[in-house]
Amino acid sequence: MLTEVDPRAASIVRKLCGRSIVLVGMMGSGKTSVGRRLAQRLGLDFVDADHEIEAAADMTIQEIFARHGEGYFRDGERRVMARLLAEKQRVLATGGGAFMQALTRENISRHGVSVWLNADLDVLARRVRKRTNRPMLHTTNPEDTLRKLIDERYPVYAQADVSVLSIDGPHDVVVDAILEQLETNLDRLVRQETPTQATVRVELDNRAYDIVIGQDLIVSAGRYISTLFPKSACAIVTDENLAREHLPALERGLDAHGIRHARIVITPGEPSKCWSTFARVCDDIIAAKMERGDLVVALGGGVVGDLAGFAAATVRRGMRFIQIPTSLLAQVDSSVGGKTAINSDHGKNLIGAFYQPSLVLADTGALATLPPREFRAGYAEVVKYGLIDDAPFFDWLTTNWQAIFARGPELIEAIRKSCASKAAVVARDETEQGDRALLNLGHTFGHALETLLHYDNERLVHGEGVAIGVACAARFSAKLGYASASDAERVEAHLKECGLPSRITQIKGWNHGPDQILEAMYQDKKVQRGSLTFILMRRIGESFIARGVEAEKVRAFLDEELAHH
Ligand code: NAD
Ligand code: ZN
Repeated sequence: MLTEVDPRAASIVRKLCGRSIVLVGMMGSGKTSVGRRLAQRLGLDFVDADHEIEAAADMTIQEIFARHGEGYFRDGERRVMARLLAEKQRVLATGGGAFMQALTRENISRHGVSVWLNADLDVLARRVRKRTNRPMLHTTNPEDTLRKLIDERYPVYAQADVSVLSIDGPHDVVVDAILEQLETNLDRLVRQETPTQATVRVELDNRAYDIVIGQDLIVSAGRYISTLFPKSACAIVTDENLAREHLPALERGLDAHGIRHARIVITPGEPSKCWSTFARVCDDIIAAKMERGDLVVALGGGVVGDLAGFAAATVRRGMRFIQIPTSLLAQVDSSVGGKTAINSDHGKNLIGAFYQPSLVLADTGALATLPPREFRAGYAEVVKYGLIDDAPFFDWLTTNWQAIFARGPELIEAIRKSCASKAAVVARDETEQGDRALLNLGHTFGHALETLLHYDNERLVHGEGVAIGVACAARFSAKLGYASASDAERVEAHLKECGLPSRITQIKGWNHGPDQILEAMYQDKKVQRGSLTFILMRRIGESFIARGVEAEKVRAFLDEELAHH
């Protein structure tokens, strides 16, 4: 048969706006043969998700089921589906159970148009009777199983964007029906509404504030500031990198609204969180003739935010403060919640204040210039939120991380989720009397490593310390019998696939022993001598504060960790 492209193809493909066509339905509904033919008629590639899963696992689906069980298979299926949907436009046939997974359905609705091949029990029974490779039908009465599956799945398949009857006969008849449905319905189905902005409110009575997340917020900061704080002047604290990349846009926006501004530029990097830079920033704010009602604006990563925030808290006994976080870490963590600090020779963040900003503007466009290593490091804090109390978020991340790293709309969602999660904890426990300590998951380990490396950013940046820290917390939890080894492995596997470190021994030239790490932990403010406090995990999405962990147990664990290669 000729494989000519259908005359309707060009218009249908255009209306799809880059989305894939995803065929869903039961085994035997003809997804592969119809899908292949549909792809030919549209001039698109065809992929069978089941084949991709088999190729990725180097096993047949039957073998995966037999060896690892259905849960394992579904997990792999979800990831493969996410990859196929993110990669490029194509016609995609899915396994019968894929559309039953909420995360996969959500992904399909974002990147594709779903088509249900609806077939009667008789038709299916006749078609699958001949086949032996269907693990779901390895039962004594396959027809009965088929009926049960139909009852369970058809209400969900019915949520597909379009449905056509899969009848016996030439595939082209079914393909024609699909093309017709697509032609009439695509305009309605593919609405181009990608979320471009989100707002999270931090509920703190009369100090409540908004975190706005989206594109182009740096240029529009002038508009926000002139509306919220008319007539206020701005002292912009930033570092040299941001001064080059994003300060001009901010200043232009302020000029456009007639806002007076001064710039205070610091050297990039953790060593700037020190007394001497702090003193200079405070003096420069005063020298720029900023009054109490004026604003300190932090344009930068966590270093700028922590330093400028502490200055805002102390200059004139407190000036208004706005955060414009530009690193992923600052957008999901340090700009939210009001902790400000500088470092002491004795340890990190030992000198500081709780001081809430009046507004946070997280411009996701700014992340375009963030070095990849810093982006990855910030992502470790995002993963942390899933591990603390949100297993579905962790699952969502393992499915969507590639889209997040590609700065797709999923990035705004990941930042929104993280901020909402932190905002909720902060609203419950602003000054860390209890629950807020959960946010330190992975940080007792991470901070100790940073301290021993003297904050040498060449070898370790904060987020990488957090990545190693959460992996350690998970393994330590498993060793102490709180969590399963498989959860610890899942954490490590996800960090690895994103290119993050998960082991202390991965740090270049690491040469400190367990006692030195322990000593550094004692110096960290979250640990009291004799009784160490750790954030541990019962499982992914369920962390808890463990007080009174014996130093000997930590030591034994560190011994093991340092022996790992
Ligand atoms: P950072 O501020 O040093 O930024 C990392 C690097 O990226 C710097 O070189 C910076 O100049 C550069 N950069 C930032 N945004 C950029 C952009 N858009 N384009 C180009 N370059 C850009 O470090 P960080 O990772 O953002 O923050 C780490 C700090 O945050 C640590 O000091 C940590 O203690 C602190 N922190 C504070 C809190 C809190 O609650 N206050 C929470 C977590 C971390
Ligand atoms: Zn952190």
